[in-house]
Amino acid sequence: MAETDIDPPTANDLENELTALINKHSLNPTHTPSPTEGVTVHYEGDGWVWPWDHSTCDDKVRAMQAYHMDIRGWSDIAYNYLGCPHNYCYEGRGYDRRSSANGNEYANSVSFAVQAMWGERAGAKVPDNLKRAVRFGIDLLRSKGGASSKLHGHRDWKSTSCPGDELYEWVKQGCPLPYVAPPTPTIPTTPEECVFTLEELGTVIDQKLQKYTVADNNHDGQVIAWHVAAQAYASKRFAEGADFETVKNEVWNKISPLWS
Ligand SMILES: [Zn+2]
Ligand SMILES: [Zn+2]
Repeated sequence: MAETDIDPPTANDLENELTALINKHSLNPTHTPSPTEGVTVHYEGDGWVWPWDHSTCDDKVRAMQAYHMDIRGWSDIAYNYLGCPHNYCYEGRGYDRRSSANGNEYANSVSFAVQAMWGERAGAKVPDNLKRAVRFGIDLLRSKGGASSKLHGHRDWKSTSCPGDELYEWVKQGCPLPYVAPPTPTIPTTPEECVFTLEELGTVIDQKLQKYTVADNNHDGQVIAWHVAAQAYASKRFAEGADFETVKNEVWNKISPLWS
């Protein structure tokens, strides 16, 4: 073959070839331009026996990173985020890089990867705090990485048990945040317990009475008497379980006719 049949490679050719090679081996994780398949949830297979101390979680993350980089030859830990069962979310590749955890090229290019730091060896029900941490990572990938609302388990992309039956059920439900019962309101039973609320109430009354006190300072004593009466009345109503808005309105309705 004559020398003239082939053009010598240009710097551009070399760069393109290198880029293709790098992408192929994920040596430099590239941006996921359209994460149309949202986020894929993973777990750690066998994992670790639960419970463990949170102080060991970052070691676990670093061990995964070392495995992915040194043994698998990837450029970084394969996951975008990792959630631990103590409700901490670790950054892996973050929200502007594709993952390399989903099992195939296509899945990695259209879906981010969040790992639940959990596994079969845990021997317990998935803790709510693990779900919270994983969900935090998912929300970040949606708000900052442009992930669609779709969710997958690793097993949707390839034959694997990942992310385990319990987490997979949760994924199919849309990774809902665990239900938290609203706190039982503490109802003050003594005037002392009402201090903050009464101060708040006092501010409202002050505002309402401002016009009156400015107009006639001689009535200051009367205003103070109303304050005392209003606070005594409010204490009684709070002790009965009435809420702030209700008491505020009742007090206002009682005192406003006095000078209108
Ligand atoms: Zn997985
Ligand atoms: Zn932890």
